[in-house]
Amino acid sequence: MMSEATTLSCDDDLSIRFKTFVLTTDEADEVVLSPIDVRSSVAECALSLIGKVITTKPINLYGLKNTMALIWGNPKGFKILEIGDNLFQFIFTEERDLLRVLNGKPWFFNNSFLVLRKWEAGLQPHLLSFHRSPVWVQIWGLPLDCFTEVAGTKLCQPMGEVLDVIIPTSGSREGRYIRVLVVIDILSPLKRGAKIRHDSTHWVEFRYEKLPTFCSFCGIIGHDKRSCMKKIKDHEKVAVGPDQYGLWLQASPIKSAGGRRYFPTSDGISTTPAMSNHRDKAIATDGGKFISNSRNSRDGVTLNPIHFGEADSAERVEMIKEVAS
Ligand SMILES: [Zn+2]
Repeated sequence: MMSEATTLSCDDDLSIRFKTFVLTTDEADEVVLSPIDVRSSVAECALSLIGKVITTKPINLYGLKNTMALIWGNPKGFKILEIGDNLFQFIFTEERDLLRVLNGKPWFFNNSFLVLRKWEAGLQPHLLSFHRSPVWVQIWGLPLDCFTEVAGTKLCQPMGEVLDVIIPTSGSREGRYIRVLVVIDILSPLKRGAKIRHDSTHWVEFRYEKLPTFCSFCGIIGHDKRSCMKKIKDHEKVAVGPDQYGLWLQASPIKSAGGRRYFPTSDGISTTPAMSNHRDKAIATDGGKFISNSRNSRDGVTLNPIHFGEADSAERVEMIKEVAS
């Protein structure tokens, strides 16, 4: 498992060493850098992103540059600087390229998360945390009358901020689950599902799209079972049971992402006007107030009837009938 303590960078070493120094008079004098002194560097940094590849393996700078340049459509003047352990600065010359990359998250490199943050003045990259990233989660096993944006939000919000919810509108394979874009803590074990209470209690399963390397023993992203420190420690104490995590957490690649899409706002959830109707909007706005703060998969998530649109349910049942026939 990666932790702050085990991933000290060169910059961390420098600051730790500084704390032990007794400075001479000359060393204690501060060197003042005015905005003019750093103007050229600030201009370059302003169009840059700081990114960390979440893996215990070292990253090849040239491999990263070539791969990401290709994936990001060869942005004009694009370059990468290595600024720490698996920590990089991605420099662009056009703001539209930077925004396209920033808004296109999540990104991956070599089956690992590439977590990106926008550069800000005075930022010290080695002090930043890179443990949160958006990821698309599919919710499988929902009762047919629970396919709503509020149900999707309520089920995934315990993992982190929900950025987007897509309710299927086609009758294909993609019609069997809700897709939710949620910002997860990648240093915590993957959540395998949730118990919902609606008429009776159900277990719904979470499957993650483009899930990078993860540990089948502890469920944490960034290492595999062979290099799991928790496994080594637990084996020293007692015999452990079967793996609690497995390939079932990986969603199959999707062919299309058709569906009704929702974009949460600070007030609740708003829908894309072209795809929504009045009833959807009313439910979505009210729904923001019903979000559970439960953070543990042992806690059941109660789905209030107001969270399901009746028309939605009827449409969904018809859609499933279509597929079955
Ligand atoms: Zn592990």
